[in-house]
Amino acid sequence: MYFAKKGAEEPVTIIEDTTVYACESESCNGWMRKDFSTEDLSCPMCGSTMAEEVRELPQIKMDYNPFSK
Ligand SMILES: [Zn+2]
Repeated sequence: MYFAKKGAEEPVTIIEDTTVYACESESCNGWMRKDFSTEDLSCPMCGSTMAEEVRELPQIKMDYNPFSK
């Protein structure tokens, strides 16, 4: 049996219900977290309108940007 050492800094993925805006275009899978949404709620990839929905996503730090590469 394995026990993590106390105090070991293992990355823990916390899945939480996250409000996101998903692109309504079927040819685009763009979406963004509500925390990062633009004011006009247009898709950052194609400019279509976006619909609010809830997804289970890993909790992230506020400086995370899913569109940066
Ligand atoms: Zn789009």
